[in-house]
Amino acid sequence: MISKKEKEFKSLEKEILLCKKCPLYKKRNSPVVGQGSFKAKIMFVGEAPGAKEDATGIPFCGRSGKFLDELLKSAGIDREKVYICNIIKCRPPQNRDPEEKEIKACSRFIKKQIEILSPKVICPLGRHSMRFIMEMSGFSEGIDVIGKIHGKVFKGKNTVIPFYHPAVALYNPNMKKVLKKDFKILKKYVN
Ligand code: URA
Repeated sequence: MISKKEKEFKSLEKEILLCKKCPLYKKRNSPVVGQGSFKAKIMFVGEAPGAKEDATGIPFCGRSGKFLDELLKSAGIDREKVYICNIIKCRPPQNRDPEEKEIKACSRFIKKQIEILSPKVICPLGRHSMRFIMEMSGFSEGIDVIGKIHGKVFKGKNTVIPFYHPAVALYNPNMKKVLKKDFKILKKYVN
């Protein structure tokens, strides 16, 4: 039997597939809605799909995704038990940063995903996502550079733990151990 959450996700997915609220829909292949368990207690929110994600419709399936998988494994967490999505559902050209107006146009989708899933913890990956999630969760005053607040727990109407974006470790391998250390905290939120 299909659960209420699954039904709500399916109907939201349809809306996302048809969305033309910002020009990004014109150049993308496939919007990337999200992937994972509808019972997930941990929700990861990245920034925007890259080329591989755009081609497949699967979030974090490219190089950053490989490292995200490694991070999850190192923390003893199954990817199938979490939910992974992005603030922006369509790929910005040349992987540029999402613009404020694109984030605004897309924001109702991530808000709805959070409302339906109602996770124990939301984990923004990277600074754009961190800013957006912290603001919408009432932690505007806690916003700082990601270098200062990565791995910190913000408790309120949502519990938020911001992380560096996994892509940083692709450019700077020294960051691998920082991310792995931060991810250990998630073990207690899985079930
Ligand atoms: N980077 C992101 O922020 N999201 C993805 O889905 C892939 C790479």
